[in-house]
Amino acid sequence: MTICFIGNSFKYETEAVMKLFLPLVTFDFLFEEYPDKEGDICKVERIPHEGGYTLSVTIALGGMTESETMPRSGDFCDKTDEAELCRMLYRIMQRLTGITPAWGCLTGIRPVKKVNRLIDEGHDKADIFNILKKEYYVSDEKLELAYQTALAQSEPLKALDKRSYSLYVSVPFCPSRCSYCSFVSHSIESSGAKKLLPQYVEKLCEEIAETAAIARELDLRLDTIYIGGGTPTALSAEQLEAVMGAVKKNFDISKIREYTVEAGRSDTITEKKLEVIRNFGATRISVNPQTMNDSVLKAIGRRHTAEDVVNAFKTARRLGFDNINMDTIAGLPTDTPEGFKHTIETLCGLDPESITIHTLTVKRSSDLFSKEERNVDSRIGEMVSFGQKKLLETGYLPYYLYRQKNTVENLENVGFAKAGYECLYNIYIMEEAQTILAVGAAGSTKLVNTETGKIERLFNYKFPYEYISRYGKMMEKKDGITEFFNNI
Ligand code: SF4
Repeated sequence: MTICFIGNSFKYETEAVMKLFLPLVTFDFLFEEYPDKEGDICKVERIPHEGGYTLSVTIALGGMTESETMPRSGDFCDKTDEAELCRMLYRIMQRLTGITPAWGCLTGIRPVKKVNRLIDEGHDKADIFNILKKEYYVSDEKLELAYQTALAQSEPLKALDKRSYSLYVSVPFCPSRCSYCSFVSHSIESSGAKKLLPQYVEKLCEEIAETAAIARELDLRLDTIYIGGGTPTALSAEQLEAVMGAVKKNFDISKIREYTVEAGRSDTITEKKLEVIRNFGATRISVNPQTMNDSVLKAIGRRHTAEDVVNAFKTARRLGFDNINMDTIAGLPTDTPEGFKHTIETLCGLDPESITIHTLTVKRSSDLFSKEERNVDSRIGEMVSFGQKKLLETGYLPYYLYRQKNTVENLENVGFAKAGYECLYNIYIMEEAQTILAVGAAGSTKLVNTETGKIERLFNYKFPYEYISRYGKMMEKKDGITEFFNNI
């Protein structure tokens, strides 16, 4: 489809709204000219005239054409014009396709941030619902979800001081690659990765020490730690001990409020590794089945069974872990609403402290983007609704929520937890409320000025080989942390 812009260049938001309806379509863009051919065309126009201007959207799609116009007085106002044009475009696409996205035309990845801002401005629940319905056509169901999430976040967000930070340790290795994975994770079974691992662990420990020195120098206060991946337990028990030992040696972990290790896939979890995790101070782990159906586990390329997940969970409980999260994904290849129901019910039976429901994300560029080839059931909305409802009934509450680009049906990922077991790190990263110092390949440091809301990011090299070979160069960027905090 061609989208042409006359008198404006609101490409980013316009494309995002179009993708809500046409996720598989690629768009061409024209500025200040009309296409010279017929076909699927969207015209987004802002045409000046005496005393004002006219906003206009016309969409030709599959042989049907719809349009809306709106007169405006005075001068152009980019912010309100862009929002108005997006609403016009949304309404037209709704009529042309018969689709009503549950999040309306709210396209950002952090809808709860908007709710939190409105709460801070003094709006009550009814006001917030009215505003978000009027501006974005968000459904009642999603508004309720976002509002409940905002309520669960209010205490953790209040409890932040401006020099507190979280530490993220990245271990971008996995035992094998899952078919849906879009993350830069490396299978430890490849000979390249196997060779790199010892060097990676060595450099990671170095970076942990150097980052701790920077934080000490700046008098920053460590609040939470998250060791994630990949699959951190893809490391051997000895390697895990080296990494967690470096954290313990270099940071004061006696006053932190939370320490998570993503144990992840149960084919990597052993009693010995769990003991290391416990003995080095972690207070929370994730055991992530994604599904409790063996056939689906096989279809996504995992080599463990649902029974292995149960065994890993029970071993963790026996070793004293009393804060366990379990991740699921709705819409995995070959899964069905019945299969997903089984997953959620089985996990509720295990009674972990938190359960996260993700929606499958797919890469647009991939061949797997076609639903048929991916063998993905189209009833993903049904799976998500069932899962969320069941968790609410079982006593879990939503506490963080985010959306990703290319999420099937534009649905959301939601973390549910029993009261008091909300993962602080997840809240802070999603709401961009606290500085995160990241170490390891693909780690991204996020520097947050809690007073102004200003955010700066520093990126580590993505791939382990680059991370190792260009370590010195990468560390030069860390001066940015000092500069940032010296200016607060
Ligand atoms: S465990 Fe996660 S990071 Fe690793 S390959 Fe599977 S989806 Fe990717």
